[in-house]
Amino acid sequence: MRIFISADLEGINGIVAPEDVEAVGAGYARSCLLMTEEANAVIDGAFAGGATEVVVCDSHNVSANISRELLDKRAQLVRGDTRRNSMVDGIEDGFDGLITLGYHAKFGTQNAILDHTFNPATIRDLRINGMSVGELGMNALFAAEKGVPLIMATGDAALAAEANTFCADVETVVVKYAQGRFCARCLPREQTQKMLRDTAEKAVRLARQKKPVRVPQNPRMEITFQHVNEADGAMRVPGTERLDAMTVAVSAKNMDELMALRQIVFGAGAEFYNPLF
Ligand SMILES: [Zn+2]
Repeated sequence: MRIFISADLEGINGIVAPEDVEAVGAGYARSCLLMTEEANAVIDGAFAGGATEVVVCDSHNVSANISRELLDKRAQLVRGDTRRNSMVDGIEDGFDGLITLGYHAKFGTQNAILDHTFNPATIRDLRINGMSVGELGMNALFAAEKGVPLIMATGDAALAAEANTFCADVETVVVKYAQGRFCARCLPREQTQKMLRDTAEKAVRLARQKKPVRVPQNPRMEITFQHVNEADGAMRVPGTERLDAMTVAVSAKNMDELMALRQIVFGAGAEFYNPLF
């Protein structure tokens, strides 16, 4: 039983503000410890539920957040940037379940801590075959194509709602309740630890009964950028189509190809981003 944990930072308990998640922020170092603590609770539960191998994929910013010294010694760690498959790099090797730890709701969600979709400065919305998806949706669809079901998702209440809408079969853990974009009522840490451990144990035990979400065939991705400029930049990628001033579409033969195309189109758009205007 091989379990893949894709770990982000914004949805970890106690984390509420930009200075908690940016490397230059005053709260960042402490946030890395909280992230490691939650990862360890999920790892412990996963092994208790029957996992024989657990891989944790550090996936926030440049993917060097989790403490290498404090991570559960039974788990393997994917650390470091420039990866083909972004937040789920390595899942293509074959796993029995995907757990998203500390994810956040997609951009534009009300009462959701640090809501964004990959890049808050440049990306407003992402749709795959007409369905609006955030990071959770994009990665879960990619995993599903590889035969790996999303079995558990953790974060604030808005993230849990997004996960349940997207995939009815997923176990969720709510660690905090957002009261705006940068403020949340956070549950006691020890209570959160127990919920994460117990739910991971249950999710892994039931992993083989959980079905991957339906994989879109010939996926077409529509990207609405935050500014016209980024859409202009994205149009330099061959095969892109302009739908309106801020929206660019791109088609792929499957999710695997779309995963790579998404990053290329986002990158081309971001090159035209101007922080002054
Ligand atoms: Zn993040």
